[in-house]
This record gives sequence, C-alpha cells and structure tokens, in this order.
Amino acid sequence: ERLVSAEQSVDDQAIDAALRPKKLDDFIGQERVREQLSLVLHSALRRGRTPDHVLLSGGPGLGKTTLAMIIAAELGRPLRITSGPAIERAGDLAAVLSTLSEGEVLFLDEIHRMARPAEEMLYLAMEDFRVDVVVGKGPGATAIPLDIAPFTLVGATTRAGMLPGPLRDRFGFVAHMDFYEPAELEVIVRRSAGLLGVRVDDEAAAEVAFRSRGTPRIANRLLRRVRDYAEVRADGVVTRELARAALDLYEVDAQGLDRLDRAVLRALLVKFGGGPVGLSTLAVSVGEEPETVEVVAEPFLVRQGLLARTARGRVATPAAWAHLGLTPPPGAAA
Ligand code: ATP
Repeated sequence: ERLVSAEQSVDDQAIDAALRPKKLDDFIGQERVREQLSLVLHSALRRGRTPDHVLLSGGPGLGKTTLAMIIAAELGRPLRITSGPAIERAGDLAAVLSTLSEGEVLFLDEIHRMARPAEEMLYLAMEDFRVDVVVGKGPGATAIPLDIAPFTLVGATTRAGMLPGPLRDRFGFVAHMDFYEPAELEVIVRRSAGLLGVRVDDEAAAEVAFRSRGTPRIANRLLRRVRDYAEVRADGVVTRELARAALDLYEVDAQGLDRLDRAVLRALLVKFGGGPVGLSTLAVSVGEEPETVEVVAEPFLVRQGLLARTARGRVATPAAWAHLGLTPPPGAAA
C-alpha cells in the first residue's frame, strides 16, 4: 500500500465516510463544477422534475462519491450505490432499476466497466425510464417492456474517453473534476483536522496540502500519519517542523514524490544521464516491472514536469535535476 496512492485502501473506508462534506456549500474547491451542479439541481427542484443525469469524470480520490452523496442530499432523495464491475449481466442492472423509487439517485461508480448488454439496457432506462426484460431463450425469447420510476443517474468514471459515445451523450451534465490546488487542499486539511480533533497549525496544513498530489484522499491520509507522529513524538499539536519530520519519515518528499518515484527519477538521472532510455531498461534498473513504473510512478512524474515520455524513450527535464539536487552533465537531454 503506497501512502501516496489515490486509490481507496481498506483503512481509508471508514475515514473517507466520516470526512465527507454533506452539502454542496461544504464541498471545497472544484468551483465551476459546484456552481454548474448547483444550477442543474436547483432548477430541477424549482420545476419539480428529476434533474438530468450527471457524469462525474476524474481520477480516484477527487470526490466523485462525495458529490454523488451530496446530489442525493440536496435533492432530498435516497441514494442507491452500485458499480460497473458489480453489473455483470443485464439482469443485474434490471434488478436495480426496477426497484428504484421515484426521484431516487442511482450512483454507478466505474461506469466504464459495466457489461455491454447492461449498457444497452441503461440507454433506454436513461432516456425513456423503461427497461426491456427478456423472457425465455433463443428464437422464442420475448422482450417485455417495464416502466421504471424516473430517477437521476450519477455515473462516475476515471476514463471518460473510454465511455461509448451513445452513453456519454445521454448525460445532461458532465463534470470534469481536476486535481485540487494546494490552497484548496489546505482548507480540506484544516476541515478534516477539525473533524478528527487534530490540532494543526496553518503552516502544517499547508505542508500536508503541498505533498498531497492534488488529491483530497491523499491529504486526509497524510494528515492521519502526521497526527500519529505528533501524538507519539510530541504533545499532539502538529507544527510545520513536525509535519515535515513525519512526512520525511514516511518518505513523502516536498513535492509528494515517494520512494518509488524518486528511485525512478534517480536512476534516470544517475544511471542514464537523464535519458533518453527505454521503459524496460529503466524498470530493470530499479528492480520493478515496466507496468509498475509506467502506471504507478510515471503519471505523477509527468504531471509534475519531471519526466517526459518521448518517441526515443524517457527523458528527465531540468526540473528533475533540480528536484534531486543534482547538476545535469553538459549536453544532457531535456
Ligand atoms: P474513488 O474514485 O476512488 O471512489 P472518489 O473520487 O469517489 O474516489 P471520494 O471517496 O468522494 O473520492 O473522496 C475521498 C475523500 O476525500 C473523502 O474522505 C472525502 O471526504 C474527501 N474529499 C473529496 N473531495 C472533497 C472536497 N471537495 N472537500 C472536502 N473533502 C473532500
């Protein structure tokens, strides 16, 4: 388990739930999404209609589940939660859809991983609030249309590009969730600290925010580790020095890179003079599988402008040399 992974770990589950803002006004950051969503919801409420279906697109830990819960709460409607991988057959989806109550919000996480036949059933349900239940098999099979209660689908995906066009087109509102700015994460850290009863000074909150890779879930996790450190090694109050010492101990550096990220970067700089070097050669040199380097370490290094993927291989940027405190040799690729 990486401390800086945005994916939800078993440890995160209870804490994620406890720290979720419950109203749109308490949701921090994502200003545009929040404003647009507020309009969609409140105009529907005013007209007494179920709002358009909403697609939330963005990386893990950015608050998609939180927003789905907020949507149901703002509408004053119940929320049903399921996910793409849980829907293996069209029948699984029919079972959910046919038992929705009027105006219920259906949250379908990882919607891009739903089975194909279910996807087609969903098109009809989203558009006409109807499902065709197929009875029997082979040439004698017949489709019986079944009306379902009007509902609002909130789909979430980390891969909006992987959704088939016809599905994407059936969402009236698509919200793209970006990584958070450090200032927004700082507010999130202070809010979470308040809820967890952790005393964190403003500079410490900024330090945790800065190392959280733009992701609230990571910020909340780092806050917990920093709290542990402050409780055991000090009087429980988290100061900037303490936050730095704790995060250094957990090997999360000033930009949020962890041990693997730094190992990849160091190998690229020290062993290959900054590149270009092929992915598999780079991976072997840090004792990892190429997939691990490509999927786990590289995206954040690229996002931070420390590494570039080029046709000739991986190349370090001038910022990479600076980050590790090394001087590029003359003629190093950049
Ligand atoms: P996944 O795709 O992995 O399910 P997610 O995008 O659904 O992740 P959430 O579970 O909603 O993410 O959020 C993760 C944690 O971050 C929760 O504890 C939540 O409280 C917190 N969080 C997310 N967004 C915000 C925000 N804007 N303000 C405050 N806290 C937030």
